[in-house]
Amino acid sequence: MRRKFMAGNWKMHKTIAEATAYARELVDRLGGESARIMIAPPFTALAAVGATVKGSNIQLGAQNCAPELSGAHTGEVSLSMLKECGVNVVILGHSERRHVYLETDELVNRKVKLALSEGCDVILCVGETESERDKGVTEKVVKQQVKEGLQGVSAEELKRVVIAYEPVWAIGTGKNATPQDANAVHVFIRRLIAEIYDPGVAERLVIQYGGSVKPGNVKELMAEENIDGALVGGASLSAEQFVPIVQAGRS
Ligand code: PEP
Repeated sequence: MRRKFMAGNWKMHKTIAEATAYARELVDRLGGESARIMIAPPFTALAAVGATVKGSNIQLGAQNCAPELSGAHTGEVSLSMLKECGVNVVILGHSERRHVYLETDELVNRKVKLALSEGCDVILCVGETESERDKGVTEKVVKQQVKEGLQGVSAEELKRVVIAYEPVWAIGTGKNATPQDANAVHVFIRRLIAEIYDPGVAERLVIQYGGSVKPGNVKELMAEENIDGALVGGASLSAEQFVPIVQAGRS
């Protein structure tokens, strides 16, 4: 059985002081959980939160990284800078990066390969927009994002990749895919990985669901055979909501 992976993406929320106090509360309250846990604060709070979660069962994630290791790249943050803060997981290809900041599959793939080669794990986000869903092209879109995002990634490296299926229409909207609909896309992704790599690799792959996950819907989502965790935005910002979400990942 795959261990559940419950992750929080704090996006552009929380000052350093707020982030540190909140991370301390999570360390105190989530100490005995069996699920893998990760929080991704904004860049400015990474060093402080990294020091707070050090030695705990909570991993530190970054919400993005530069596709280069150093140099004249104004506004970018490199993997070595992230690792210095304690980061060991990077969220890549989030729909806000794809649709607001126009990141292409090719750029996402460069970041995926660089993060893996620098020793970080990757959460690769994929998912269709509402109009793509209405046109019935969900599988086509997800297939392209998975295939292109993982171009050149070996089966060995794939062990450090998690795929987050996040239908764009469900992110921050309060709408979410039914557990059965989400599971069907997860099955599709697992089959695709079996085709590209092999069935053993596909079986081990952790596939998170993301899109308006809340304490009230997380249990039924996690009960689906192919949903191996959650990538949580809004509900990861308070312990009141994030603690029960993480607890739903208990084995
Ligand atoms: C996300 O940003 O990855 C996300 C799933 O957000 P929310 O939980 O707020 O829908």
